[in-house]
Amino acid sequence: MGMVQNKVAVVTGGTRGIGYIIVRRFLEEGAKVALAGSRQETVDKALAKLAEEGFTDNVMGVCPDLTDADSVKAAFDQVVERFGRLDVLCNNAGISSRTALVDYTVEEFEGVMDINVIAPFVCSQAAARIMIEQGGHGAIINTSSMVGKHGQPSGSAYPTSKFAVNGLTLSLARELAKYDIRVNAVAPGITHTDMVDALPDTVIKPLIESIPLGRMGEPEDIANAFVFLASEQASYISGAVIPVDGLSRP
Ligand code: NAD
Repeated sequence: MGMVQNKVAVVTGGTRGIGYIIVRRFLEEGAKVALAGSRQETVDKALAKLAEEGFTDNVMGVCPDLTDADSVKAAFDQVVERFGRLDVLCNNAGISSRTALVDYTVEEFEGVMDINVIAPFVCSQAAARIMIEQGGHGAIINTSSMVGKHGQPSGSAYPTSKFAVNGLTLSLARELAKYDIRVNAVAPGITHTDMVDALPDTVIKPLIESIPLGRMGEPEDIANAFVFLASEQASYISGAVIPVDGLSRP
């Protein structure tokens, strides 16, 4: 019996990075999973990779525009049609930014807010409507970041968006508690994805040395927190923003 046995989960940005590992961990723990990507091509590639790893059943792909309520509703309806219900939403999709304040355009700032804040709002609304109609009980898990607590010395849209994610998490937790829908967030530190692999050793080494637990986070570390928060073992936890960062203090 898996930790999230038979639960139906949607994972946004599930095609690569941390999101792909969240999808895999949910499948390993018995869930039925819909991964949402931005393009059909990347969705198909992720499904093919999962099939190579032995996960052919209980997984499907959708590619809604995450900032468009109608598009997200249509995708979630497809999930309910295939798997019969919706129990868990993992708002993982996100984009980073390193732009200096003096170089920012409003468009670039808005672009980060769109995918990091508007998308979790739109997806949470669509998921909550379904969960409430089912009679309540469910879990929404957002992706914050350690910079959503400490700030970041460039790319201010990114930490700003993650502070907003924390606010959305705490507020929706309070609003949805009466339906037994729990809303929490995971706040990763620097996590070992392709993006990090592309950085030179001269950047990576001091980064690792600054982390008290002595290593970077692995995507599995983050995914395990998602699985726990989605599981019944977390049935009395809502409104929490859980750091998974090896005690990093940037
Ligand atoms: P990644 O770039 O590898 O993956 C991001 C995912 O989001 C991809 O699947 C991508 O398709 C999806 N995405 C991006 N823009 C999208 C859009 N417009 N529409 C739909 N999907 C879109 O990043 P990652 O490192 O795996 O990050 C995942 C989450 O974790 C993000 O929310 C990120 O902010 C957060 N995070 C990552 C780290 C880290 O060190 N990697 C640290 C803290 C927080």
